[in-house]
Amino acid sequence: MSDAIARLLDVRARIAACAAESGRDAGDVRLVAVSKTHPIDAIRPLLEAGHRIFGENRVQEAAAKFPALREDHPDLELHLIGPLQSNKAGDAVALFDVIETVDREKIARELAREMERQQRRLRLYVQVNTGEEPQKAGIAPGDAVAFVERCRSVHGLAIEGLMCIPPADENPGPHFALLRQLARECRVERLSMGMSGDYEIAVAFGATSVRVGSAIFGHRPALPSVPRETRLSHAVATLPARPISLR
Ligand SMILES: *Cc1c(COP(=O)(O)O)cnc(C)c1O
Repeated sequence: MSDAIARLLDVRARIAACAAESGRDAGDVRLVAVSKTHPIDAIRPLLEAGHRIFGENRVQEAAAKFPALREDHPDLELHLIGPLQSNKAGDAVALFDVIETVDREKIARELAREMERQQRRLRLYVQVNTGEEPQKAGIAPGDAVAFVERCRSVHGLAIEGLMCIPPADENPGPHFALLRQLARECRVERLSMGMSGDYEIAVAFGATSVRVGSAIFGHRPALPSVPRETRLSHAVATLPARPISLR
């Protein structure tokens, strides 16, 4: 058995245990295996072991990998979990089954148009920026109810659920609780929340799907295409805001 399959089974078992502890049915929590940066050869064994739900964060990368995989496994289910640019809406509608990152009017409009044009109905989630982080995608929590309403009434979109990515350095619990509360106010059923580091907490807070990458596939290879200057400025940008005391 490959390492990835062993880890997949372990993640599934943990989800089931957490669900049981929270009085939930393990079958109510879906596992999206996040395969971004990993090659087709790393994904295939999971498909062969029966796993069907995958997540990718870039349209182009998914377009390079998934058509071939879908040929052998037509019932696989592919989720877009990264930001969508409106000029890629057509490709996204052709390629994905679920888009979890609807977060602005222009995207809602383009998706509605493309689904009509391609006669494909995707399942859609609205991404909420629960931490109101300026660099992060997602609609502000205070605007979520009105936005979901406009997706329905203006664009005719059926929104299935809400998705969030809590700030990396915060306790995720309050963010998961907020997403759950907003879902109630928006009258949507599903909650996509929880990643490798916090999916068990997310299940306790009511996640109906978790997006797990590194806990299944192992650590992602460093991005080779990022120029050195960018990496450097990224490193500077991620330094702690306050100097670390040496005493
Ligand atoms: C990469 C990614 C994940 C998976 O992250 P891991 O920490 O590797 O589990 C989940 N959700 C989103 C939106 C991502 O971009």
